[in-house]
Amino acid sequence: MKTIEHWINGVAAPAGSTRTGPVYNPATGEQQAVVSLAEPSDVDMAVAAATRAFQSWGNSSLTKRTRVMFAFRELLVQHEDELARIISSEHGKVIDDARGEIVRGREVVEYACGIAEVLKGSFSDQVSQDVDVHSFRQPLGVCAGITPFNFPIMVPLWMHPIAIACGNTFVLKPSERDPTASRLVAELYAEAGLPDGVFNVVNGDKVAVDAILDHPDIAAVSFVGSTPIAKHVHERATASGKRVQALGGAKNHAVVLPDADLEFAANHLTAAAFGSAGQRCMAVSVGVAVGKAGDDLVEVLERKAHEVKVGPGDDASSDMGPVITKVARERVINAVTSGAEQGATVVVDGRGLTVEGHEEGFFVGPSLLDHVTPGMDAYREEIFGPVLGVVRCDTVDEAIALINANPYGNGTAIFTSGGEAARKFQREVKVGMIGVNVPIPVPMSYYSFGGWKDSLIGDSPIHGPEGVRFHTRAKVVTSRWPQLKSTVADLHFPTHR
Ligand code: NAD
Repeated sequence: MKTIEHWINGVAAPAGSTRTGPVYNPATGEQQAVVSLAEPSDVDMAVAAATRAFQSWGNSSLTKRTRVMFAFRELLVQHEDELARIISSEHGKVIDDARGEIVRGREVVEYACGIAEVLKGSFSDQVSQDVDVHSFRQPLGVCAGITPFNFPIMVPLWMHPIAIACGNTFVLKPSERDPTASRLVAELYAEAGLPDGVFNVVNGDKVAVDAILDHPDIAAVSFVGSTPIAKHVHERATASGKRVQALGGAKNHAVVLPDADLEFAANHLTAAAFGSAGQRCMAVSVGVAVGKAGDDLVEVLERKAHEVKVGPGDDASSDMGPVITKVARERVINAVTSGAEQGATVVVDGRGLTVEGHEEGFFVGPSLLDHVTPGMDAYREEIFGPVLGVVRCDTVDEAIALINANPYGNGTAIFTSGGEAARKFQREVKVGMIGVNVPIPVPMSYYSFGGWKDSLIGDSPIHGPEGVRFHTRAKVVTSRWPQLKSTVADLHFPTHR
């Protein structure tokens, strides 16, 4: 069976430990590879390589860094098919969806291609007599990324292109469930001309993560994953003096007002709830039907949920693939069962679905629950599967209050044909990313991505301008080139004349 090794200092590195984990094909339920699970000594090796590489990469020219990014971007285009197949086979998502995440991740590389522009400092002439001030930003050193299974290429791409273009070196700990895409990315960086040791991949689980969080030579940690682990990462890494950006889980609500085009809204809710089998941090898991929108919306949603074709990700006719593991499948089934037991109406029931020829695959069909209430477990918990719950509200104010009372605040959307409600919604809702008639409002790479409340621990959103700020620190220089005439030291606090 294939072993997926680490990538350290420009080569595949066999693990120092013998611990391994299984990598499945979720569509067949079969194990297809083992992945090495790093010990702290493996993390040490990667950090040592990154520390050495930083000595020259941290001083490399903007021109050189930009050229590597352009070359890397071209290689991502050339290898899109291969990457999409790898992602689909380990994650289960359909190939087109895998292409989507490659494209959205590549856009961050495109942003990083413009690093010379975004890293420009500022200059103030003559702030005092013969005195100028300028500011510039410098890289931090070795940065690390810890990423979730659900976007095996896009989420790491939110982090490392920015870090590396800013002059840092990087150690990535991808999800142990679908690690192969990161290995190919490492090879593409090498082909793009990135020097050895600038980008390293260490595979592993909690042992590797905790070694990263404690490591004295790592300056900053980026994390994306579930909220409990985001809190752990934030607490432990800040305790060891690192910068941390930590993005957590989500429960995203889409509000549908009676004046919305219901067919349009239901189309988008269906795609946003069941695409990638609901395993997106921006998936819509709660539909909020306002007033008389309710019955009609649920009727259209029911029809559309039945139309979703579930099958293996490499079958072009599939709309939705399996979930990531058998345990995830059980969790989804239990969530629907508990919803029913606690009073929700199961309008579409995906629990019994099997896919012919793939009976052992981790498939579960789309489920639609109506009359969900905030007290139910199916509402409170992040199910992270293809389950859409509909909550009924009387007014838009009630819908906003519902969203604001939820502990998560990643994404939300409103469907309406009226600007007044849309404006009120975007101003009053306590959520970081908002869509108006757009169900999955993932910001473009030149904005930053981040939720509020339990969806983002700490205060730093990811990529875009915030990513550049996170991966650099500023210096402000006050300078004077005087014809020295003064003979007496002035002990007053300096003021500008
Ligand atoms: P996860 O939290 O289980 O794992 C994320 C990473 O943390 C992995 O690399 C994993 O190896 C590591 N990890 C897991 N358990 C750990 C522990 N006890 N100690 C230290 N490290 C540990 O998340 P997942 O299941 O891979 O991904 C799904 C979650 O990620 C969902 O909650 C989803 O909402 C969230 N997510 C959020 C965003 C966002 O932008 N906010 C984006 C994608 C995914």
